[in-house]
Amino acid sequence: MKLKTSAQNWIHAFVLCCLIGVCLSESIRAYEVEVVSGRAMGTSYTLKFNRSGMHSSVEQISEIVASELEKIESTFSLYRPDSELSQWNAAAAGEWIPVSKELYFVAKYAVELSQLTDGAFDPTLRPLIELWQSDSLSGSWKPPSPEAIRAQMKKVGASQILFQVDPIAIQKKTPVVRLDLNALVEGWAIDKILELLKSNGCSNAVFELGGEQAAIGCKPDGQSWIVGIEDPQALSRVYATVSLSDAALCTSGSYRQSHSYAGKYYSHIIDPRTGSPIEHDLLSVSVVHSNAMVADGWATALMVLGPTEGEKLAATYQLAASFVQRSVGETKPKLSTAAHGRIITAEPHTPSRIRELFIACGVVVVSCFAIAILVQQRRK
Ligand code: AMP
Ligand code: MG
Repeated sequence: MKLKTSAQNWIHAFVLCCLIGVCLSESIRAYEVEVVSGRAMGTSYTLKFNRSGMHSSVEQISEIVASELEKIESTFSLYRPDSELSQWNAAAAGEWIPVSKELYFVAKYAVELSQLTDGAFDPTLRPLIELWQSDSLSGSWKPPSPEAIRAQMKKVGASQILFQVDPIAIQKKTPVVRLDLNALVEGWAIDKILELLKSNGCSNAVFELGGEQAAIGCKPDGQSWIVGIEDPQALSRVYATVSLSDAALCTSGSYRQSHSYAGKYYSHIIDPRTGSPIEHDLLSVSVVHSNAMVADGWATALMVLGPTEGEKLAATYQLAASFVQRSVGETKPKLSTAAHGRIITAEPHTPSRIRELFIACGVVVVSCFAIAILVQQRRK
């Protein structure tokens, strides 16, 4: 009888320990940030998330993310001849080409954005983009001739793209028209990944793809996810921070992807009005929006428009945007009205020349003191 009681006690103690163990691991899990990273769509990605309340393992989430990104690439990639978009680009004109709802949705938004920006954003610029990119990796790159630019300009125009709702299909009016959705695809992919995570029970995550990022919920400690905006004039520095919750931050800049000829830099962003890379002094535009595809597209569109027109349009559409123009010394971003309180600019730091002057003065003062002490000791 005594033996049975002690055995029962042991069992109770064991069950209690298991329960405590489960509770402990749950509460540790509630505070843990899991990290999954990899490469897709020609760039890198990082997902940070909290697994509390989720049934999937980190490995399973990693696989889900990788296979979704692969699916997106097989739809939108212009580098894969067998992608759905490449196939559509190669298709004949004047016919309704059935497309997936993903391609339809992104292409439809691209044409809408083109209308909203009076053609500054243009998803049919592919012929010009290829012209400016050709031979860009060779050491002997030089800008194309005005005739070549004019010839390619005849092949672009978002009004050449028609949409049919039932059944969903896209048509091109002329055979030379092609779609390039690269300015939106990263944002679209971010929205898709976060949706997928939510459907897997994840409510707190931040996902970054090629520098564009968006977050749902908050960090496990209840604080918001804070992300920085890179200073285009000092790449190791962040010039502003954004507290992201169910929102995205996307940046378009001409400071990373450009090539040069005879001392002049040429951006990867083309102004459809000139058929050439943008020429103004805007280095980057960042947009905060609840939808990552919208933020991504507007960042590129405002970058095309430049500081004056871009700021006007950001005000018209109440976009939370930050503009950085080339400047000597400290980076001075200009925020749209809607960006105030959402994009928090870093405290300006002491310009390096003044800081150097302070250090030099300090060294002189300390040296004078040291010399004075030495002289006094010698006199004694
Ligand atoms: P992002 O780096 O997000 O601003 O996107 C730049 C990409 O958008 C380029 O690599 C081109 O594929 C494409 N692009 C360039 N100029 C334009 C434009 N004016 N409108 C729409 N897409 C563009
Ligand atoms: Mg973009």
